[in-house]
Amino acid sequence: MELEGKVAIVTGGARGIGGATVEALCREGAFVFVADLSDEGETLAKRLAGEGKCARYVKLDVTDEAQWKKLVDDIVREFGHLDILVNNAGIGTLEDVEQETRAGWDKVIAVNQMAVWLGMKYSAPAMKNNGGGSIVNVSSIFGAVGGFGGSVAYHASKGAVRLMTKNAAVRYAKEGVRVNSIHPGFIDTPMLGAVKGTPVEQALVQNTPMGRLGTSAEIGEVIAFMSGPKASYMTGSEVFVDGGWTAQ
Ligand code: NAD
Repeated sequence: MELEGKVAIVTGGARGIGGATVEALCREGAFVFVADLSDEGETLAKRLAGEGKCARYVKLDVTDEAQWKKLVDDIVREFGHLDILVNNAGIGTLEDVEQETRAGWDKVIAVNQMAVWLGMKYSAPAMKNNGGGSIVNVSSIFGAVGGFGGSVAYHASKGAVRLMTKNAAVRYAKEGVRVNSIHPGFIDTPMLGAVKGTPVEQALVQNTPMGRLGTSAEIGEVIAFMSGPKASYMTGSEVFVDGGWTAQ
């Protein structure tokens, strides 16, 4: 129970990697706000609360600045502190440089990039005023390498998350707020739904040295470690959890 007494926000916590992260943080004793647009978060939070663990669903559109401010203010008012933020909410795209539209670009950048900044902007001050905290930003292997030449807006957003993380890590290093990024490979979540059972899935598996997709739990467990006291000297780091994909 390394996170006993800690209060956490996991965006996009209703399912997939976010859902597994909520479970891992709860298991370690944190009280977790499952912050998502989807009511699936309510089901997850109720199940975990029923098992004696602590989770609460809160409807949050991560692109809405006023909602971020209210969420952090409400948490500090109720608990007195916020200790952990996992900026996980994200959306995928497939369009390459020529196919992407201005509207598509703006949407992906808003959810995957701008919202990560908003989360840090409102959470980090609450953390530094109460002795520090941990922020984990969920990037991707596609935040570090060019992949298959598609998903240009997704690559742009995830690459920005990687560097925003390092910038914020330096900004808050002396104030006890650690900021790190995690870079999953291909993980079996609803985000991969469109390619499941298709030759694209086979290609992803074949291109991964370990020869399989990862599970949400395999990401959630690493995020829980990065959020906890055993990672106390880790800030500005990028952690690849990708079955060896970027090692090639
Ligand atoms: P997912 O689609 O299963 O879950 C994403 C969650 O984010 C959903 O619950 C959705 O409702 C929520 N969300 C989307 N837009 C939101 C918004 N505006 N406000 C609040 N919540 C919102 O996806 P996942 O695979 O679990 O992905 C989680 C994160 O991991 C994303 O940032 C994704 O880019 C990243 N990632 C995923 C993979 C993968 O292979 N699945 C690989 C690398 C990185």
